[in-house]
Amino acid sequence: MTSGRHAAGLHRSRELAEPQSWEIEVAPVPAQNGAHVGYRPEAGWVEGIRCRNGHFCHPSAQYCTTCGSSMLQLAAVRVLDRRPPLGVLVVDDGTIVPLDVDLVIGSDPSEDDSVRFGIAGSLALAGSAGAGLADVHCDLRLRGWNVLIRDRGTEAGTFLGQPNQSWARVSDRERTQVLPGCAIRIGGRELRFESRHAPLPEHAA
Ligand SMILES: [Zn+2]
Repeated sequence: MTSGRHAAGLHRSRELAEPQSWEIEVAPVPAQNGAHVGYRPEAGWVEGIRCRNGHFCHPSAQYCTTCGSSMLQLAAVRVLDRRPPLGVLVVDDGTIVPLDVDLVIGSDPSEDDSVRFGIAGSLALAGSAGAGLADVHCDLRLRGWNVLIRDRGTEAGTFLGQPNQSWARVSDRERTQVLPGCAIRIGGRELRFESRHAPLPEHAA
């Protein structure tokens, strides 16, 4: 990762005309904090609708997640725009990562092909010895307005905790939807997915 690409990714959100509610300034995280947000590609395109104030929303939203205005009286014309952050990942050390791009997570995700080719962003976590955190441990893929997770064939596994349910190991073949409020456990680290978008089943994307 070069510092130039890094800086470009970090400053992108300032250039947007209208800040979205989940746009959070991502500052470079000192290595001793244990989490490092690497290069981030541009967000992909997604279909949605606009509220009366022009905010880009989920196509089946009943209320705007930015200004709260009702969508019910609007003729819902679908438009294509850059995907807004679908929420944030809150890392156990306090690092906050907006989820507007695919993300590869591990102790050294920078060498993953999708990161090297600029398709996905990277989140590097420090792992304690023996906790089993792999260089490339899991990845999050954004499909439509949903977040999907897949383990990358690790020995220690990737676990998803739904609110009020026990931890479940996620597959390394099929992708599992991550709902708002879910926590992800990998190699002794924990990340929580927070979102103001209402949870929708994956087929509704
Ligand atoms: Zn709005």
